[in-house]
Parts: sequence; C-alpha cells; structure tokens
Amino acid sequence: TAEWIPRPVDHSKIYMTDLESALHYILHIEVGKFKVLEGERLTALKNFVSVLAKYYPGQPLVRNFLHTMDVWLRRQQRKSIPYVSLGMAMKSWREDVLLPRKSIWVGCQGSEPHFRGFPCSLWILFHSLTVQAAQHNEYLQKKADPQEVLQAIRGYVKFFFGCRECAKHFEQMAAASMDRVKSMDDAVLWFWNRHNRVNARLAGTASEDPHFPKIQWPPKDLCDSCHNEIQGDPVWDLGATLKFLKSHFSLWNIVIDRKR
Ligand code: FAD
Repeated sequence: TAEWIPRPVDHSKIYMTDLESALHYILHIEVGKFKVLEGERLTALKNFVSVLAKYYPGQPLVRNFLHTMDVWLRRQQRKSIPYVSLGMAMKSWREDVLLPRKSIWVGCQGSEPHFRGFPCSLWILFHSLTVQAAQHNEYLQKKADPQEVLQAIRGYVKFFFGCRECAKHFEQMAAASMDRVKSMDDAVLWFWNRHNRVNARLAGTASEDPHFPKIQWPPKDLCDSCHNEIQGDPVWDLGATLKFLKSHFSLWNIVIDRKR
C-alpha cells in the first residue's frame, strides 16, 4: 500500500466537501439501506430533513435542494415510501449534480481508509447544525427550539447510523440528559461535552487513527482561552468554549473547496 501523505489540511477550518460528502453518504448509503421507509423510521427521516432544511450551512443550491426534499416528504400522505421513489425524486431535483457522487474526505481524511471519514463528518454536521440553530436565535426573532434539533439528530442516529454500537452508546447518553437541555446555547455545549466523553472512551482503542489521537477538544493551540485552572486542576471555561464553538462551526469558517 502507498505511504500515507497528509494533505495540507487546516484543522482550524471546516471543509464544505466533508459536509456535502456526509449528506451524500446519509442520503445514498444510510437511508438507502432501507428499501421501504415507514413508521418511526420515516418520522425520524422527516424530522432530520426538516432540521437540515432549516440549519444546514450549505450553499444556496444545496439548501434549496434540502428545502424541496423537506416539502416533498411533508406532503407525502402514504404511510410508507419506497426508497426508489425518494431516489427518483432526488434525481429530479438534480441531487447528483449538487452533491458529490461519492464521499470525498478532506478535513475528515484518515491515514487509512478505515479510519475517520463518515463518522467524523457526521459529528461535524451535528455540531454545525446546533451552532447554526443557536446563531439563528441570535439574529432572528423566531426562536429555534433546542429539542427540535437535538431530538431530530437523536432520531437519525437511532434509526439510520450504520455503526450500531455507536448508536447504542449515543442513545444511552441522550436518554440520560438530552430532554433537560433548555436553550440552544446549552444544546451546542451538550454536543461538545458528549463528543468529548466519546473521545475519552475511545482514546487508545482500535478506532483511534494514530495520526489523529482522541483528545479533549479543543486543544490549547485552537483555543487557549477555553482552558482554565482552578487550584492547579484543569477546567473548561464554558463561556470561552461556547464562543469558540460558535465561531469554529460558523458559516465563515467553512472552506468552500469543491470546483463546480
Ligand atoms: P471525531 O471524533 O470523529 O471528530 C471529528 C472532528 O470533530 C475532529 O477532528 C475535531 O476537529 C472535532 N472535534 C473533536 N472533538 C470535538 C468536540 N468535543 N466537540 C466539537 N468538535 C470536536 N466510535 C466507536 O468506536 N464507538 C462508539 O461508541 C462511537 N460512538 C459514536 C457516536 C456518534 C454519534 C458518532 C457520530 C460517532 C461515534 N463513533 C464511535 C465514531 C468516533 O466518535 C469517531 O467519529 C471516529 O473514530 C473518527 O474519529 P476522528 O479522529 O475523525 O474524530
């Protein structure tokens, strides 16, 4: 196998290609695994697409595509939708032109094909959705509902995320405390904190890419002011961390790197 040559990636940035590859993977691989969408799984898909339509930080044509898909799903009267119908509808909305035809990882590229990739992009998508919803609250009168966003993500993980072990662990964390999150800012911090718990659990295990160690994130070189000390013990400065998350996962920090 060829030696891994790291691409020049700036880890203080988010890459649009990773987000679009996540969408491609979700719509074709994870949702496409189910020949028929019905019951709670269909509801989970509708809720997730509705949140994507509102808060996905994409380019106008991609956002428009998600909006069209949301409206289409909401208008469906039938109790079950064959995946081929959804696939045909997506084709008619030019999904194959708007999104990559296969997943390409940039910020989420691993040192070997089995490392990083889709799960990495899914975290980035989830963090971005919570931050977009929080920013929506700051700029617009109409408030985003933290439970709408959080429960839509929870439903996606429960009914579609292909890593069943991950979904089980995540559902345990969600069941323990997700319902108690009352504000969009707390939703941003909830996701950050739970992601760090997953990082701590996975550090040193087989799923850790040796070139991308699992750390308590963000490291000092990304956000010095996030790190504080109380009597010599390291603690997070939550105000500074929230501010950092809102800027890291903001629209302005996304590198639009795909040639169209
Ligand atoms: P990831 O952990 O995927 O992180 C992606 C990027 O997000 C990082 O490169 C960094 O830039 C940023 N980041 C890191 N930490 C944070 C944070 N706290 N807040 C905000 N941004 C951060 N794998 C298992 O083996 N077992 C599991 O139980 C498991 N559960 C998972 C549950 C969910 C919901 C998801 C999405 C994934 C889960 N995974 C699990 C996969 C695992 O968490 C990683 O996604 C995977 O190992 C790839 O790791 P990575 O190095 O790309 O970094």
